Amino acid sequence: MYRSEASKLTGRKRSRFGEATDFDEGLYDLGNGVHAWMVPNGSWGENNSGLVVGDGGSLLLDTQWDVPCTAEMLDAMRPLTREAPIKHLVITHADGDHSWGCALVREAEVVMSAAADSESRELKPASMTLMSGVTGALARAGWGNVKKACHYLHGMTAPYDFKGAVAASATTTFQKRTTIEVGGREIHLIEAGPAHTRGDVIVHIPDTGVVFCGDIVFNGSTPVLWAGPLENWVSSLTKMLELDAETFVPGHGPICGREGVLKMKEYWEYIGRELRKYHEAGISARDAAYDIALGQEFAESEYARWDSPERIMTSAHVTYRHLEGKGGHLKPAEKVLILWKQGLLASDMPGAVPASMHRP
Ligand SMILES: [Zn+2]
Repeated sequence: MYRSEASKLTGRKRSRFGEATDFDEGLYDLGNGVHAWMVPNGSWGENNSGLVVGDGGSLLLDTQWDVPCTAEMLDAMRPLTREAPIKHLVITHADGDHSWGCALVREAEVVMSAAADSESRELKPASMTLMSGVTGALARAGWGNVKKACHYLHGMTAPYDFKGAVAASATTTFQKRTTIEVGGREIHLIEAGPAHTRGDVIVHIPDTGVVFCGDIVFNGSTPVLWAGPLENWVSSLTKMLELDAETFVPGHGPICGREGVLKMKEYWEYIGRELRKYHEAGISARDAAYDIALGQEFAESEYARWDSPERIMTSAHVTYRHLEGKGGHLKPAEKVLILWKQGLLASDMPGAVPASMHRP
């Protein structure tokens, strides 16, 4: 993976879910004042952040999910940000894992797409704490499918502590694209959503040839379609490949080159093709997800070894909504219901990672 001698790694050998790490955790020096905070193995909340250092000011790209994880990252960045304080915080999309540590970056101007900003304001860290508590209790005391689904839902948040977490709200919003000047250098923000969420943004640093992809690229971890349509995600990947860049920092998983972006595109083309077939045959989204994820073709593919393959359950439901002309905006209760089914599918994939989510 792309990193220099100047990288500062944490030395941890286990991921937050207790898996052996596939890549090193810590701050990677990508050259020219561009740094990536990489979190193995790219599972739930194990997302990557970025720091672009200019003359007398720097830009932070995404926080971590909770305050302790964000604080650890900011500490590692301190030798860089002491001279060049964080003046901008760019949030690539509304998901809490990329934004709920924002309380620790109070002085910065917070930049988001207008769509991400309005989606972010709907999310409440307190309800995540509540969900974690309730599902934790039911995972211990429940039985049958309740136990299985709650084991999964609780497992998602188990490594995190949402005390002090705050949903991000932007001080500056934009649509389509904008340029930010950071200590004498230009940073391009390009809206790629609605795709993973309603307002995904990718960040291109033209003077270094680096793209921070947000959750438009997952590497070695299964992407999830919360908003869509799928075609929009695929076309934003095509546009990403046209940018002048060789290094791509995914939202989750290790740094990659163009091949990582292409792989993401192939995954969605495959899933989209399959789901359209099942939809035309009148098979439900739930059954389609089961059939694909537990089928022979999938088992023999690389996708079966990606982290959290069961996320196909959410992607199937959202794709079906688009095929039926309903649009991709799920209400919170609908999300929970889909995640419940996703948890049950996960328990039928005991060989998948992270093990703590797939095996009781
Ligand atoms: Zn994410």
